[in-house]
Amino acid sequence: MKYFDHAATTLPYEDVTTTVAEIMARHYGNPSSLHKLGEASSKLLSKSREVCAKALDVNPGEIIFTSGATESNNFAIKGAAFQYRSRGQHIITTETEHPSVYECCKQLEQLGWQVTYLPVNTDGLVSVEEVLAAVRKDTFLVSIMHVNNETGSIQPVERIGKRLKEHDPRIIFHVDGVQGFTTLPLSLKESGIDLYSLSAHKLRGPKGIGLLFVREGITLFPLLAGGGQEGGRRSGTENIPLIVGMSKAIRMTTEGRRERETKLSTLKTKLMDGIRAIPELEFNSTETGASHIVNFSFPGMKAEAMLHMIEEAGYIVSTKSACSSKHSEPSRILLAMGKGQEVALSGIRISLGEDHTEKDIEELLAVLDLTVRKLRNIKGREN
Ligand code: PMP
Repeated sequence: MKYFDHAATTLPYEDVTTTVAEIMARHYGNPSSLHKLGEASSKLLSKSREVCAKALDVNPGEIIFTSGATESNNFAIKGAAFQYRSRGQHIITTETEHPSVYECCKQLEQLGWQVTYLPVNTDGLVSVEEVLAAVRKDTFLVSIMHVNNETGSIQPVERIGKRLKEHDPRIIFHVDGVQGFTTLPLSLKESGIDLYSLSAHKLRGPKGIGLLFVREGITLFPLLAGGGQEGGRRSGTENIPLIVGMSKAIRMTTEGRRERETKLSTLKTKLMDGIRAIPELEFNSTETGASHIVNFSFPGMKAEAMLHMIEEAGYIVSTKSACSSKHSEPSRILLAMGKGQEVALSGIRISLGEDHTEKDIEELLAVLDLTVRKLRNIKGREN
């Protein structure tokens, strides 16, 4: 089986898997305990925080460990909403955010907050001007993802952050960085980003662990009350093995970023050129999007049928995102980009990983070509 679903999750680095197992067996002390075992865990926790902070070029005190990006996004948005309620109750986001942002905003609407969901253009992008035009006196938060998980569209978060801060420095800017971190460098300091979410399992770390960068000076209302871990901001005994595993993966991701981006860009171009040569396929991704995601449709053909045929040939790809692919509704993201129902129902996402080779792409393209031929035959017989 060849795996082409790296936007859904990744195989952890071997070094990460062995480190996590070793720490589970040896360093089981609770970092809050005063004895030696606790102290050893506490040291690992501090060290990991430093490693993550260095990779993000921020202060260790600005990193909060969470259970993953779903929690980080919920914490960023609800934590800011509850904390800054008196400042205003208006949020700006986009129509194409991950469900952990989108549904979180929907929940807040039920509780009395107001949310502007900015539309995107045919490439899935919002413009800086549209964001600024949506700002109101009571806007306290803007939440925009860096890279879309279904299509790879790269939002201009650096420019949005800078202009937003010039416009009103009190507005908090949150970025879901999950799909951008592996290939795109981003200066949190210079981009006016106040809150930034990451998930370890998208960058070859373990599942169930993530982080939220919270710029110094910003307070979030804690969603998890309890023993006051993470400086009182996120209670619950810290998961030391996963935290250490994530810090390793984050360090390795950052160190290899430039090389990975170059390699994946070449592979993506090859993949897109090959797909372009297959008649009837329509792209939902652009050349200028993130280098690890290519999304396309075979209009009129259910994505699920295509996915299973590709799988039978030994290749794993995806329809929409992993979290929403069990629902056979059209993709909310593709509809927001102005695609018709047929295209939005037939989106296939191929997401590349750093270990792929040119030969893998050639083989995948041959499978895609054959699959389309077979499906076209079936379609022809049905008509
Ligand atoms: N945001 C984006 C853009 C994602 O792709 C994902 C994972 N599908 C998440 C947030 C949620 O991350 P996690 O699986 O760690 O909760």
